[in-house]
Amino acid sequence: MKFASIALKTAASVLALSLAAPALADHHAGDGPKAGDLAMVDGYPITAEGAAKFVADTEAEMKKMWVLGGRAAWINSTYITDDTNALNAHFGAMAAEMSVAKGLAAAKFADIEGLDPDVKRKLDILRVALTLPAPTTPGAAEEAASLATSLGAAYGQGKGTLNGEEISGSDIEAEMGNLERTPEELSEMWSSWHTNVGAPMKGDYVRLAELTNAGAQELGYADFGAMQRSKYDMSADQFAAETERMWQEVKPLYMSLHTYVRSKLNEKYGDDIQPAAGPIRADLLGNMWAQEWGNIYPLVAPESAGDIGYDLTSLIEEKGLSEVDMVKVGEKFFSSLGFKDLPASFYERSQFVKPRDREVICHASAWDVEDSNDLRIKMCIKKNGDDFVTIHHELGHNYYQRAYGVQDFLYRDSANDGFHEAIGDMIALSITPEYLVQIDMLDREDVPSADKDIGLLLRQAMDKAAFLPFGLLMDRYRWGIFDGSTTPEEYNTDWNKLRLEYQGITPPTDRDADGFDPGAKYHVPGNVSYTRYFLARLLQFQFYKAACDKVGWEGPLHRCSFYGNEEVGKGLNDMLAMGSSKPWPDALEAFTGERQMSGKAMLEYFAPLKEWLDEQNKGKPQGW
Ligand SMILES: [Zn+2]
Repeated sequence: MKFASIALKTAASVLALSLAAPALADHHAGDGPKAGDLAMVDGYPITAEGAAKFVADTEAEMKKMWVLGGRAAWINSTYITDDTNALNAHFGAMAAEMSVAKGLAAAKFADIEGLDPDVKRKLDILRVALTLPAPTTPGAAEEAASLATSLGAAYGQGKGTLNGEEISGSDIEAEMGNLERTPEELSEMWSSWHTNVGAPMKGDYVRLAELTNAGAQELGYADFGAMQRSKYDMSADQFAAETERMWQEVKPLYMSLHTYVRSKLNEKYGDDIQPAAGPIRADLLGNMWAQEWGNIYPLVAPESAGDIGYDLTSLIEEKGLSEVDMVKVGEKFFSSLGFKDLPASFYERSQFVKPRDREVICHASAWDVEDSNDLRIKMCIKKNGDDFVTIHHELGHNYYQRAYGVQDFLYRDSANDGFHEAIGDMIALSITPEYLVQIDMLDREDVPSADKDIGLLLRQAMDKAAFLPFGLLMDRYRWGIFDGSTTPEEYNTDWNKLRLEYQGITPPTDRDADGFDPGAKYHVPGNVSYTRYFLARLLQFQFYKAACDKVGWEGPLHRCSFYGNEEVGKGLNDMLAMGSSKPWPDALEAFTGERQMSGKAMLEYFAPLKEWLDEQNKGKPQGW
């Protein structure tokens, strides 16, 4: 559900483990084509036929590595020991070396005349997959890898303070959502975390940005940001404009939510802490980055519609469902759409409950270890409503993985990187009261009346709509660094400027112009691009609406259920089975009939809430 709960195994994720290995870079620096030689790359002639052979061999090699690496990663995640850590790191490094070598080779084939369109598409996939490109100059890849490692470690070991005492990253994250904390405590945690974790990283980040830019340029892109924007079947500039267009579509919803939440915070804290106009103080929104506001829902809940009228956790208890029963309910959702049952191995190999006798990673994830029919989920299921929803979400990933298993190896991925998460979330949106009635978990007379909908919608919007500007600005900010429009002197100022411009928030304390507040968000030191999360937020509603249109749903969109409709299942499968073999608009069209990603369905979903918010906001200043 949350953007953080992804640990997919896709073909591209193997490619994406891309810390460049030094030996390899030297190899390329030394073995490039020399004047007078027949132009060759890694033993393949630089011709259309050579490229085709290179791609075919690469797919076979990568697939082999992927299965081995997947097994090591699975064992490591479900049985953490020094040995499994070492094995997983070993295969991770091998995969990273391979992806760097293949990406660099692919770049050399890219401009050959007469390439078969599929060969061209696969070369592009190989070329853009590197998450940490480095130039081939001696020592550069080694330096980039070591900078990335130390940035990651600095984040992992980061500490803030609470009442003067040191507090770890995961604890401080939880405490920011604790409604018992005073504004002074929140401000202390926010400021100490941003200062302690972010500022010391700046020098390393500046250097890493230089290196990745140079690496991207060697691969044929203007800069690293342009490279990241080049994987969306359109030009880098077009894609930037597309995301801005989508943001403008949904911005009115965000503005209404911002106004309403600000007025509630003003009521609670008073003008000195949260003025009635202007930006919202960033530490008051229940989350270190103010990216999702669900934690402060109790502060903003409407009086008569605060709770939604039934409790999924109690329904699970009443039915006496075991952890595996909960998974079977999720499977039945897909079976009802006409998808074939999960393989027996799914139930034999998945980790459903936390083992009693060993360390595991409980973070929910969906896996496809071998040949797209070896599907598994890894969870430590608790018998509650949240995990019931998460199961549906994770299974969405599994069915996607199985559907695109019919494709060549390099096409076994979602249509663009927003699609995978959006499928899981679309399925999670489908757990409506109507669905619970259909699967006999809820009695029809217990379906909450419409006056409860506002509470339900507001609770969802506090996470899903509040996230949108943050989801967009994370990459916007880094694109500015990579294209040079944000210079190192402006790193902190520009970050806080964007946060104000897009999110309408302001830090609780003055920020040092030499600091590096963005370093206090994992994905910056972790070099993880972020646009996919923005896309997924919008796409999930677009998919959901398409399904509801197919069943002829006429009520409010947020109440729709398409359970049991095989026509929806067929359309969905058409899209899923394409994997990344075609430009994403083709895949989108196969299910939704539309070729543009859009926020319109999200607006329709939240329309009753928007109307209610605007009613509450009457006479209040909007914006900042
Ligand atoms: Zn997910």
